[in-house]
Amino acid sequence: MHAQLLTAARRSLVAAELPAPHPGPAQLLIAVRACAVCRTDLHVVDGELGDPKLPLILGHEIIGTVVEKGEAAERFAIGDRVGVPWLGWTCGICEYCRGGQENLCDRARFTGYQIDGGYAELTVADERYCFAIDPHYGDVEAAPLMCAGLIGYRTLRMAGDARLVGIYGFGAAAHIVAQVARHQGRRFFAFTRPGDVAAQDFARSLGAEWAGDSTTAPPEPLDVALIFAPVGALVPAALAATRKGGAVVCGGIHMSDIPSFPYRILWEERAVRSVANLTRRDAEEFLALAPKVGVRTETVAYPLAEANRALDDLRRGALHGAAVLVP
Ligand SMILES: [Zn+2]
Ligand SMILES: [Zn+2]
Repeated sequence: MHAQLLTAARRSLVAAELPAPHPGPAQLLIAVRACAVCRTDLHVVDGELGDPKLPLILGHEIIGTVVEKGEAAERFAIGDRVGVPWLGWTCGICEYCRGGQENLCDRARFTGYQIDGGYAELTVADERYCFAIDPHYGDVEAAPLMCAGLIGYRTLRMAGDARLVGIYGFGAAAHIVAQVARHQGRRFFAFTRPGDVAAQDFARSLGAEWAGDSTTAPPEPLDVALIFAPVGALVPAALAATRKGGAVVCGGIHMSDIPSFPYRILWEERAVRSVANLTRRDAEEFLALAPKVGVRTETVAYPLAEANRALDDLRRGALHGAAVLVP
């Protein structure tokens, strides 16, 4: 099978011809039909996440068709369409797994990081972490739901019943979260990198009441700020824009260092927290909700062979929406 392979951090991916993987007892062999490119993939390529298997096939927003099953796999039939997310395996026995926090499992393994992912023609996945995809969605359109959608949804859930949400970093996750937030009757403001008028227009087209530079103060204080850009300096900026008792939720896996800030912007019961990974419950809830909300994804499709170009476009901030690789 063709695959795009990461052989070492800070190197471009290389095209490789590999033997087809074999499904283990509880695994599915999946013919990949689309795999979205996530900011996390860039963090792995750039060496900012320190524990990848190498060589590695990136990609954790996979849509594909089941072509073979391990002898103990029973949840799906040959020919079924499934989605595969970032959380690829958990132990089921640690205190986090037993306590409903499998996203924090001590031994969790992640797709396209410690398990080969979807930048390839074929992949294998533990059937427990595969999900049915609503027929309403095409393959390319569905791919960004698997991480931008799922982890975006988990991040939005941390906003509780906030009415006015600020979204920092208006890319793949934000454009999905914005649609769910509107459906829930929330208002939202969008913050982009300074001068990114195209992203601000994109946010307004999805219902942002106000969109502007992340360095400017919003017209009214936020109930909750959600940060999707990997920029630590946004944490104090968002705190300063948030009302008393509000919260700043960081939705990304990696961020540059957070600069020091005066205690008075945290004072008055403001909180800062992160969101890590996802649970199967997040996936089931969000994948049922998305077609009801009518969530649409903005995508740019690339041939699998052009994975490096897709990563570069994401790095440059040239995409409003999600890059999706098609084998
Ligand atoms: Zn991701
Ligand atoms: Zn566990």
